[in-house]
Amino acid sequence: MSNSETYRNKPSSEDKAENKAESKMERVEVARANDMIGKQIPVLDHGFLALVDYMGSDSSIVQAARVSYGSGTKSVHDDAGLIRYLLRHDHTTPFEMVELKFIARMPIFVARQWVRHRTASINEYSARYSIVKDDYYLPSIEMMQGQSTSNKQGREEGNLSKGMREDFIGKIKEKSDDAYKLYMEMINAGVARELARMVLPVNFYTEWYWKSNLHNTFHFLALRLDPHAQWETRQYAVAMANIVKSVAPIAYSAFDDFMLSSVKLSKKEQHAIDLIINGVEITEACKMAKLPLRRDDNKPIKTGEGPEFLAKLERIKSNASGISKADGESI
Ligand SMILES: Cc1cc2nc3c(=O)[nH]c(=O)nc-3n(C[C@H](O)[C@H](O)[C@H](O)COP(=O)(O)OP(=O)(O)OC[C@H]3O[C@@H](n4cnc5c(N)ncnc54)[C@H](O)[C@@H]3O)c2cc1C
Repeated sequence: MSNSETYRNKPSSEDKAENKAESKMERVEVARANDMIGKQIPVLDHGFLALVDYMGSDSSIVQAARVSYGSGTKSVHDDAGLIRYLLRHDHTTPFEMVELKFIARMPIFVARQWVRHRTASINEYSARYSIVKDDYYLPSIEMMQGQSTSNKQGREEGNLSKGMREDFIGKIKEKSDDAYKLYMEMINAGVARELARMVLPVNFYTEWYWKSNLHNTFHFLALRLDPHAQWETRQYAVAMANIVKSVAPIAYSAFDDFMLSSVKLSKKEQHAIDLIINGVEITEACKMAKLPLRRDDNKPIKTGEGPEFLAKLERIKSNASGISKADGESI
């Protein structure tokens, strides 16, 4: 266990941990996580993420697993090994024993993506009840990018000149200010807040409490830390990942290893890798494994299984260069 953790119910041995389930227990405290409570991590231009509270840590995962598997866990001698085993084999319920509660402030368009993660509990600021603040998101010049040519949902540097970017950011600002002016005009005239709010664009900020267990938080992070997730939403996932690392560092490291940095390979992709291992050149291997990189007219294919396989190979290369030593484990 990490030295930064102070367990009042130290689960020092397997037998003791099994008995602990029935004995009186006290709150598991993690010094680094305690330090983070209430501290707002700034995200985007007016947003933030903060840890409100947490329940449990790595030790709670271990404790739950040892209760549920009893003597079946005796061959795993250290907690990191057990956590890595559980995560690797999708033994997910012990991870549900850790809960995290956040408060976040984000643009409505980020909230719309975030809210799709149905397994969390949410309480959002009510714009029917309260007056919306004059805070809206404006992308930076660097983030005001062009439409991606390889991903219909993405962006890339593109051909937008600096002048065009500045012009459009200025226009977004103008429209947002106008929308807020109309909103306040209606509020001041006595229009119901639930109606007046409809003129506010989705770059206005909203705020919510978001509570989720560690298993579902990992699922959220796996999807929203991915480069395919929208950049703005990803910034909240990055802030969340830093908090989660503090609450359950061993579980986070296992998540990074087996989920976040893992690469899923289809049957065709495994075929291509087998060919590459046996000396076939990559483009030829893709062709043989029916992972097309070119059309019949020899024009390059930018999307689909072939290019995605090449992207996976690149990912494997970059992951391999930053690989950390895994903790030993077996059960
Ligand atoms: C890069 C990216 C692009 C996306 N693009 C779009 C898009 O264009 N349009 C769009 O509508 N959405 C889009 N989404 C949202 C996406 O389809 C999911 O709704 C979102 O990521 C939440 O994932 P989830 O359902 O796995 O998570 P959660 O809702 O947290 O659910 C977790 C898991 O619980 C199970 N589960 C929960 N509810 C149900 C249920 N009702 N039935 C069966 N199983 C359930 C599933 O196993 C699920 O994986 C996108 C997401 C990402 C990351």
